Amino acid sequence: MNKVTFSEDLCKGCGLCASVCPKKIIALDREKLNKKGYHPAGITDQSKCIACAMCATICPDVVIKVEKE
Ligand code: SF4
Ligand code: SF4
Repeated sequence: MNKVTFSEDLCKGCGLCASVCPKKIIALDREKLNKKGYHPAGITDQSKCIACAMCATICPDVVIKVEKE
């Protein structure tokens, strides 16, 4: 399976990654706060990821790593 990982504590919760994902499988976790005090982004359904890496490319803080299977 394609794999997307987030360095959660680097995230500033800007939501850019969620806005560009063509599969709409990234969301900010409203239940969680990271070390910086933001709601971190995460993946909601890994199995739908097409490893396009748009999320990783747009993230200003290099939080996201995409691995193609
Ligand atoms: S790699 Fe593409 S499909 Fe997968 S989470 Fe990122 S933007 Fe969405
Ligand atoms: S684009 Fe980067 S900093 Fe912004 S919400 Fe997504 S992972 Fe966090």
